[in-house]
Amino acid sequence: MPLNPSIKVLFITPEITPLLKTGGLADVSAALPAALREYNVDVRVLLPGYPRVMDCLKDKRLLAILADVGVHGEVKLLQAKLPGSGVPLLVIDYPLFYERDGGPYIDHNGHDWVDNAQRFALLSKVGAILGSSKSPLTWHPDIVQCNDWQSGLTPAYLHFSPAPGAATIMTIHNMAFQGTFPASLTTPLGLPASSYSINGVEYYGQLSFLKAGLFYANHITTVSPTYAEEIQEEPLGFGMQGLLAHRYLDLTGIVNGIDRHEWNPATDKLLPHNYSAGDLAGKAANKRALQHKLGLTEDPDIPLLGIISRLTHQKGLDLLPAIAPFLLEYPVQIVILGSGESGLEESFLHLAQSHPDQVAAVIGFNEALSHQIEAGADIFLMPSRFEPCGLNQMYSQCYGTPPIVHATGGLVDTVVDATPENIANGTATGFIFTHATTHGLNECIHRALDIYRDQPTWRKIQSNGMRRDFSWNRSAEEYLALYEMILKSA
Ligand code: ADP
Repeated sequence: MPLNPSIKVLFITPEITPLLKTGGLADVSAALPAALREYNVDVRVLLPGYPRVMDCLKDKRLLAILADVGVHGEVKLLQAKLPGSGVPLLVIDYPLFYERDGGPYIDHNGHDWVDNAQRFALLSKVGAILGSSKSPLTWHPDIVQCNDWQSGLTPAYLHFSPAPGAATIMTIHNMAFQGTFPASLTTPLGLPASSYSINGVEYYGQLSFLKAGLFYANHITTVSPTYAEEIQEEPLGFGMQGLLAHRYLDLTGIVNGIDRHEWNPATDKLLPHNYSAGDLAGKAANKRALQHKLGLTEDPDIPLLGIISRLTHQKGLDLLPAIAPFLLEYPVQIVILGSGESGLEESFLHLAQSHPDQVAAVIGFNEALSHQIEAGADIFLMPSRFEPCGLNQMYSQCYGTPPIVHATGGLVDTVVDATPENIANGTATGFIFTHATTHGLNECIHRALDIYRDQPTWRKIQSNGMRRDFSWNRSAEEYLALYEMILKSA
């Protein structure tokens, strides 16, 4: 028997690795619950039964049939375990909403599913039912943790439910995604008309799922302390800065961890050569393998800059094409893996065509190549305009690939700039630039390249990064302390 009765947490998410991933939220949804369970927190994850989820879960079995959910027909709740970690999953089986080809949020043509409001109101509603005393399950959570707008209505449903319910946390992974829908949906989605007000779910004449979560949740978290500060102001509050500033005492930033089983250069099965801080020979071999694979000049001494990213305005990679022609006059190579805005995809493909020995652009999503770039590159480039937490800058440090990052959000909280003082005191792990402009990026790349030429100093920066603790245990301990604080004050 554990010494303390364990805290029970229902963790609601629209995506989870390895079943379905469109971004970092999927990784968090798999790793944080697994880490929390090691601290005796009884976390169960609620998610929609998309085809890929249903296909992958061979062990699923019916747990309950939910009545009164506000949709037609039966809503079944299945129980299964996440492959790998065995984290308990609760899967909503409602084929009309979730059993369709395409992405979880968009169709084959890249358009939002027209019924996204209904699809994610159902996710939110089921979360609220399971979090209330009306739940048909014998397991009753103490805390319901909602993640991003897709489960933002849960705190509102629980607030208006006459049945007593769990405490709620709204966790923001990215303020840019807010789930706004026509105001006319407020009542059809089962919210009282009175909730449609500035002190409620209303947001500039529309219904916002995220605003609902931020307004009604007992507590708000986001994925880094710096981002928690930034979203209380324009522009990163994306219109909700007033509410967030008002609730600053209920707002906590906790940096995500990374999965050290998946992202460890000493054991990574996706790498041709494993290596560690004590012996970087394997890193050099990975660089050669990457250069060979992508048709670049095979030269160990040319600094290789790696990029793995969604190609969107947020990620700031539109700053690179303007400076690349000048940069490529130096002995430098650039490898880009990503997909997104077609204009950016084209500029990188064009750059690769015009500099085939120096630039490789791979458009698409490729897990294995992403590991090989982290290992084979010398420097990682992440000039995000904003970055709530970010993962690749942490992977980079673990892989001995110092990152160049813009001074924003989780990038500031996880990278230590290679200033002369930080180099001298042994803390420097990367390069930070203040202004997200071509000039700012260009200067920072040249600063990094200068230090790269000083190999003994470079080795120290690599080794500082490789020794950092980015494990989920550190984050899990902070979440556990927060859960205890919330339950004490409830
Ligand atoms: P975001 O969630 O905003 O996209 P994060 O850095 O938090 O950014 O997480 C992105 C995750 O997706 C990382 O694990 C990154 O390696 C991965 N990723 C992004 N684009 C690709 C790609 N084209 N191929 C493989 N992995 C990718």
